[in-house]
Amino acid sequence: MEVFYSSMFFIFGSVLASFYCVLATRIPEGKSIVKPRSHCEHCNHTLKWYELIPIFSYLFLRGKCRECHKKIPIYEFICEIITGLLFMGSYLYFGFSYSLWVSLFLISLLVLIFISDFKYMIILDSPLVITSIAIFVLKVLYFDWQTAFLSLLDGAILFVFMLFIAYIGKKIFKRDALGGGDIKLSFVIGFTVGLPYGFMVLVLSTFLALPYATFSLLTNSSHEVPYGPFLISALCIVFLYYEKFSYILNLFS
Ligand SMILES: [Zn+2]
Repeated sequence: MEVFYSSMFFIFGSVLASFYCVLATRIPEGKSIVKPRSHCEHCNHTLKWYELIPIFSYLFLRGKCRECHKKIPIYEFICEIITGLLFMGSYLYFGFSYSLWVSLFLISLLVLIFISDFKYMIILDSPLVITSIAIFVLKVLYFDWQTAFLSLLDGAILFVFMLFIAYIGKKIFKRDALGGGDIKLSFVIGFTVGLPYGFMVLVLSTFLALPYATFSLLTNSSHEVPYGPFLISALCIVFLYYEKFSYILNLFS
């Protein structure tokens, strides 16, 4: 049964990932997410059902369009494999529990933010709203109303804190250091893991972002560094290693 469920979660993750690739590229470009149907970016050839199977289609077509033989972007293929593995890993790690359902939503956010923030410097609003509502419902179901409402307060505090940091940043550097999306994402962070952990996520995210930011400033390719991917990665890490982080927190209390 374990093998059955693991495979189901893998398939579920990879199918969702191909949908997320569409969402995260079409919405920032102002295109509809339902029309036109999935097609080749070069020759507009509409993809048949067997060209839409996650992971396998890419292998079967050897990474090229069937009509014009242009290369299909490899990030979609990688994204499908990674999401499948993360979904399966969450199931194996958490089993059927509150943490499993929350982690599936966080992984989905992770994938969407990695694509849209690195490609377009945008964090989409709709996934943040959907994730918040879903986690609120899960908190009510697995805990109670009171816990769910108190978590909203944690989210709001972290949101205001980041708003303040953004304001200070703008005063000092005379330009936007934090995007609106990063500030909204902070709400989800505080809301999901609560306050002391929320601040740990912020600290961890700066450490994660540092090597990339240094690299991109040195190579001078761009002065704009997306922060969203590092925030959401830090959130996933803290969520996964809750106990380890609570141990660190206890050292300070
Ligand atoms: Zn083509």
